[in-house]
Amino acid sequence: MDKTQEQEVIRLYQKELQDIRSQINLSNDEIDAEGDEIDHIQGKNIADIQESLSKRDVLRYNKIQTSLKKINTSSFGKCDVCGEEIGYKRMKMISGVFLCISCAEEAEILNNKR
Ligand SMILES: [Zn+2]
Repeated sequence: MDKTQEQEVIRLYQKELQDIRSQINLSNDEIDAEGDEIDHIQGKNIADIQESLSKRDVLRYNKIQTSLKKINTSSFGKCDVCGEEIGYKRMKMISGVFLCISCAEEAEILNNKR
C-alpha cells in the first residue's frame, strides 16, 4: 500500500467505527465533538457498548479498532501471522482484516478439518 491507499483505508475504517457507534445510540453531546471523539469513545466502558451491539458488530468493531491502533507502527496493513502486506484491495473489502489471503485460506482449511 502506498500512503494514499493507506489514508483511504484509515478513513474507511474510521467511518465504519462511526457507523457502528451510531447504532449504539450514544447521546448527542457524546458524538458532538469532532476531533477527540475517537479518544472519548475508546475511554467509554466497552461493556456498555457491547451490551447494545450484536456480537458480530462487536467483533467487527474490535477488529477495526485493533487495526487502527497499528497506524504509525510498521505492522499496519501487515498480516498478523506471516507479516506480509495484506494488500489495499483486501483491506478495503474486509474491514479490520488481519490475515493475508494465504494465511486466511490456511486457517480456513484447518477449521474445516476440525
Ligand atoms: Zn499471512
